[in-house]
Amino acid sequence: MNQSNDLFERAQKIIPGGVNSPVRAFRSVGGTPFFTKRAEGAALYTADDRALVDFVCTWGPSIHGHNDPTIKQAISEALDSGTSFGTPNPYEVDMAERIVAMVPSVEKVRMVNSGTEATMSAIRLARGYTKRNKIIKFAGCYHGHVDSLLVQAGSGALTLGNPDSAGIPPSFAAETIVLPYNDLEALDQAFNEYGEELAAVIVEPYPANVGLIFPKDGYLEGMRNLCTQHGTVLIFDEVMTGFRVAAGGVQEKTGITPDLTALGKIIGGGLPVGAFGGKAEIMDFIAPLGPVYQAGTLSGNPLAMAAGIAALDKLTNENPYPQLQSFGEQIRDVLLGAAKEKGLPLQVPQTGSMFCMYFSDTPVTNYDEAVASETAHFKSIFHQALEKGVYLPPSPFETCFICSAHEGKAINLACDVLSEAIKSL
Ligand SMILES: *Cc1c(COP(=O)(O)O)cnc(C)c1O
Repeated sequence: MNQSNDLFERAQKIIPGGVNSPVRAFRSVGGTPFFTKRAEGAALYTADDRALVDFVCTWGPSIHGHNDPTIKQAISEALDSGTSFGTPNPYEVDMAERIVAMVPSVEKVRMVNSGTEATMSAIRLARGYTKRNKIIKFAGCYHGHVDSLLVQAGSGALTLGNPDSAGIPPSFAAETIVLPYNDLEALDQAFNEYGEELAAVIVEPYPANVGLIFPKDGYLEGMRNLCTQHGTVLIFDEVMTGFRVAAGGVQEKTGITPDLTALGKIIGGGLPVGAFGGKAEIMDFIAPLGPVYQAGTLSGNPLAMAAGIAALDKLTNENPYPQLQSFGEQIRDVLLGAAKEKGLPLQVPQTGSMFCMYFSDTPVTNYDEAVASETAHFKSIFHQALEKGVYLPPSPFETCFICSAHEGKAINLACDVLSEAIKSL
């Protein structure tokens, strides 16, 4: 009897597709998803009692590994005092102080319950602040399932957006201009055409929802300058990269500061949390100080704040980044070595604890190049790895995550399994 298959059959009868978030359904790699009943450190334990070395890490949040004892302790202490108060609570202040200290551009911050809420609210705030409507996003950048942000690229620069999902009125999507990432000329042209109408440019400074892409030299700087020149709010979506590529995210690594930042994932310590913050002058446009409405019954929830505070403090106290970088380099070098031996063209973009695989002759710099890369190889590697106890994200366009709990043994196993899988292609 296979418990996961039984659960999936039951789930499909009463949950659309059997899952509460679509990529969990394994549609991009094929097969049936496994169910997890327990997770500890770098391992997931499935409903069928298999132990898997996890390189998904709950899609980013668990940088310290699963069920981290310090975070668990913090949640348990908070639980003694109650689960939700509906009034301001001390944890919210402690959390905000930490975010402001860690993220370079954030002077004031508001807590929400997911990354989607963070980007949605940041966009509304930018529009309210500038009294403009149009926004620019980049093809392949994912900002959660916000109506006006679920828009991908048409061909060529300056394409007015077409909705990517059913249920989004074309009139909403028409306020979103989609441009290719890493093309400063296209951005410059868009500013020439729409400059006075542009409320915001929103970007994943390292796009990490179409594999992993890095900005070309001067690109983010050029973006910053254009936004400043035109009075357009620059929003970095650091829901994934925040506290991950460095304590202060990409903005700390590159020294380029946005006006607003969306945060999520790691700041929840495994509980549902998001946040958006930035310049005080802009943030003061939010209710109750300003005219932009934004609210949340469970925002700043004490259990979620306690978990997040513990996660951030652990980053500050332990500085896991050099160790994560060395794990990342080790895996990257092994993958590249295996591909070379096999004579396969492989790119492994990697920074710290994030990496992905593109089977491509040349480095991938935008969405079009990412989707043009060969994806059948990844599917084969995914299933071979899973068979041998290593869980990669179930899509070639998701980033793989390393956590500090991976330590030597798990990394070595992954290196062996993945290089064997590549050589067998
Ligand atoms: C995951 C993610 C989001 C959405 O966060 P949710 O908590 O899933 O709503 C937004 N932006 C980026 C860059 C993400 O990686």
